[in-house]
Amino acid sequence: MPAWLGLYYARPLELTHGRGRHVWDSTGRRYLDFFGGILTTATAHALPEVTAAVTEQAARILHTSTLYLSRPMVELAERIAHLSGIPDARVFFTTSGTEANDAALLLATCHRRSHQVLALRNSYHGRSFATVGLTGNAHWSPTALSPLQTLHVHGGVRTRGPFAHLPDAEFTAACVADLHDMLDQTARGVAAFIAEPVQGVGGFTMPPDGLLGAFREVLDQHGILWISDEVQTGWGRTGDHFWGWQAHAQNGPPDLLTFAKGIGNGMSVGGVVARAEIMDSLPAQSISTFGGSPVTMAAALANLTHLLDHDLQGNARRVGGLLIERLRAVTAGLSTVREVRGRGLMIGLELVEPGTDTTSPRAAALVLEAARERGLLLGRGGPDGAVLRIAPPLTLTVAEAEEGAQALAEALHEVEETLTAHPTTR
Ligand code: PMP
Repeated sequence: MPAWLGLYYARPLELTHGRGRHVWDSTGRRYLDFFGGILTTATAHALPEVTAAVTEQAARILHTSTLYLSRPMVELAERIAHLSGIPDARVFFTTSGTEANDAALLLATCHRRSHQVLALRNSYHGRSFATVGLTGNAHWSPTALSPLQTLHVHGGVRTRGPFAHLPDAEFTAACVADLHDMLDQTARGVAAFIAEPVQGVGGFTMPPDGLLGAFREVLDQHGILWISDEVQTGWGRTGDHFWGWQAHAQNGPPDLLTFAKGIGNGMSVGGVVARAEIMDSLPAQSISTFGGSPVTMAAALANLTHLLDHDLQGNARRVGGLLIERLRAVTAGLSTVREVRGRGLMIGLELVEPGTDTTSPRAAALVLEAARERGLLLGRGGPDGAVLRIAPPLTLTVAEAEEGAQALAEALHEVEETLTAHPTTR
């Protein structure tokens, strides 16, 4: 396998099974899962309804392709179209978030007859040739060659960068002014603007609420389409909203919305939602052999039903709110924790070298190991990997949140002691 497939941990972990919010490794050790396989186990491991849906569908028919009618695919498309808030919506299913964004870019660039795209700095949108060109994070973007011309604008990172010192309203005004400037000076008929409402790989950074809506007003003046990448922020994870864009757009939904990860609870489901006028504007035929395959659609339907019936968005708001407060309290005296940020069950801790403002990837690596030793799995993110990411399944209980916060606090204290004793090595 490729060297660039990075594994977590000095001694990589083999997970063999899971239940609820827990997973087990091949030695039989149990862990509280605070990362859900990169925000993908959205409801729970081994959720009985999803297991039953997969088993029943697998016993009937595994594959048909998009050449034939498929009841689970049409049902899921109708439900997502309705939930998206996009008027006259059409849904196209893919097998990943990368492919969903690729499809959205194809639609937007064909519709607008332009290959210029705006993206946020510190963004991540996938690993394909087109999406790495968009990604505003050099660690995840191996080539400057691209079928797109991407212009990166400010706005995704609130507490670092040239506008970090400004209060929210002025921060937003500065980013809007930058966007105007970019469009007036540099751009020629831009096709689309793509943004994650909360930047995932970027380390759970986000703009002040309303910024993307303010951008929307500018984009509208130029006819530029807004693509909301909801691959991490969709399905209620952010607690206050079902979609991340809803924290921003008083003036309505995006033109296109992409999704993946949590909807399938681990089955490969992604997709793009767009108004019919945009979705149907492709001047050629297309197909997806695996996109929308029956087993994945049946799983996603069962998962979505569970998520809505049990108000897991509400649980993300309640338990996530409690967890972030708890984490702020237990890290208050630690000089390695620069910021605890996020919303719902999407919480990031940015780590720095003790007593400095310099991001500390080594601290993040050590905390990941120390938390593992205490039976807690975390994620990492940020431009250089110095942010701890917490994104457990949305069924997380209060007791589990407290247990995880305690383990993390112990790990952070241990690492702070180590780093303070060895301040020079990095
Ligand atoms: N968009 C965002 C916001 C993501 O976080 C990711 C995956 N980390 C992707 C797109 C790509 O999704 P996938 O890995 O399913 O291709």
